Amino acid sequence: MRPFWLQQALDERPEAICPPLQGDARCQVCIIGGGYTGLWTALMLKRARPDLDVLLIEADLCGAGASGRNGGCALSWSAKYFTLQQLFGAVEASRLVIESERSIGAIGAFCQAEGIECDFRLDGTLYTATNTAQIGSTDAVVAALEQRGLSSFRRLPLQQVQRLAGSQRHLEGWFSPIAATVQPGKLVRGLRRAALAKGVRIHEGTPMTRLEHGAPAQVHTAGGRVRADRVVLGLNAWMARQFPAFERSVAIVSSDMVITEPCPQALADIGLSSGISVLDSRLFVHYYRNTPDGRLMLGKGGNTFAYGGRLPAVFDQPSPYCDLLQRTLAQFFPTLAEVPLAASWNGPSDRSVTGLPFFGRLDGQANVFYGFGYSGSGVGPCHMGGQILCSLALGLDNPWTRSPLVRGPLGRFPPEPIRYLGSLLVRDAIRRKERAEDRGLRPLALDVRLARFAAAAGKADKG
Ligand SMILES: Cc1cc2nc3c(=O)[nH]c(=O)nc-3n(C[C@H](O)[C@H](O)[C@H](O)COP(=O)(O)OP(=O)(O)OC[C@H]3O[C@@H](n4cnc5c(N)ncnc54)[C@H](O)[C@@H]3O)c2cc1C
Repeated sequence: MRPFWLQQALDERPEAICPPLQGDARCQVCIIGGGYTGLWTALMLKRARPDLDVLLIEADLCGAGASGRNGGCALSWSAKYFTLQQLFGAVEASRLVIESERSIGAIGAFCQAEGIECDFRLDGTLYTATNTAQIGSTDAVVAALEQRGLSSFRRLPLQQVQRLAGSQRHLEGWFSPIAATVQPGKLVRGLRRAALAKGVRIHEGTPMTRLEHGAPAQVHTAGGRVRADRVVLGLNAWMARQFPAFERSVAIVSSDMVITEPCPQALADIGLSSGISVLDSRLFVHYYRNTPDGRLMLGKGGNTFAYGGRLPAVFDQPSPYCDLLQRTLAQFFPTLAEVPLAASWNGPSDRSVTGLPFFGRLDGQANVFYGFGYSGSGVGPCHMGGQILCSLALGLDNPWTRSPLVRGPLGRFPPEPIRYLGSLLVRDAIRRKERAEDRGLRPLALDVRLARFAAAAGKADKG
């Protein structure tokens, strides 16, 4: 099943598949994975060295993974400031917040320069509370950002919050103008087009079956082989399965979404007319936004977990949580309760222990690089990932290659079956806790304690 956004992008702009690799190929840099990570890396390599011979292989179609099915909310890392500071120190934390904000503008500028029409709207984001227990949960991080001169947030009067967000459910709201929404499928397909135009050779329908280390490294596929001086792996949720060394570095978890049929007048009536994204302060957040053609999309993370990194078929099917999301949508927007849904879907997010992506050299090899672990928040950050992987592949010495982000995974989950069972235990505790809070009740102390296991990775993760 093609997710809504990717299908819409393909319908509006049908393009021939880049033919699968047949036979042997040689290149300077071979990129595996045609999502944002792989494509931004390819584009940045070409920008730095237009003569570089870059070849990208993608198992399915570019955008078939998370990049063609996400919520399209491009957010900065400002809400992750405490995690960044704790792990990397204040200086690097500040640099990364600033870079993550820069990436959002850079994505918009790139799309404009390349004629990529992906509904990029730099209309900001609202972090809200949808029950009294959530009130105040954004205050500390905004205060810390303010202290360091990094804050783009301002608290809005409640009436304005409810108007901007189109819902009376919100009880407070912090607004940052440095956030955008995009049609994610159009963005990833646009990046593919730009990469092709710059001379990147792309083979779709070409899964890597084996990677053989060496100089050159050899990337094996069903129909051929690529010999490459350098290899970049941008495999997201598929990485852990293909490279067992990473099996405990991420937990693969779904984010589920629904989108309505167009209802522009109903959205205008409730005031939800800008491209703003709205996120509440749950551990597995509710997030929503509209589309320029007058639809409403709502998503929620943390539902289905993959055992041992194996992606079950459900990750590529209509969301099993569709009814729940539809009820949530009706609670947020009573006047939209009867608007039919156009689609529901879900997809795999690669949640790391820290909630941050990590990068490095595979098996200590000097010429094989990887990056994943975006934890459900990659639309903006994959642009940083591209800069990191490009810098690593070019052997540069710069703030990206010196960043602690390139030290590989910073923590491991317990082995199976403990991780899977533990994930379900924590997920169910969070659900009970948040259900109680929604009803104004005091949650069980045990549920609060279990929920803390997931809280460590910080706010605004959609996986
Ligand atoms: C439902 C959902 C909602 C989300 N919402 C948001 C959001 O609103 N905001 C946000 O910031 N982030 C969001 N995210 C996260 C974001 O989509 C990801 O972090 C981002 O797309 C990751 O890009 P990527 O290129 O690393 O991975 P992907 O886009 O998954 O690309 C990896 C690619 O590798 C390919 N591949 C796998 N194995 C092989 C192989 N052996 N050989 C060749 N190719 C292979 C796959 O087919 C895939 O295309 C969401 C994620 C999901 C699933």
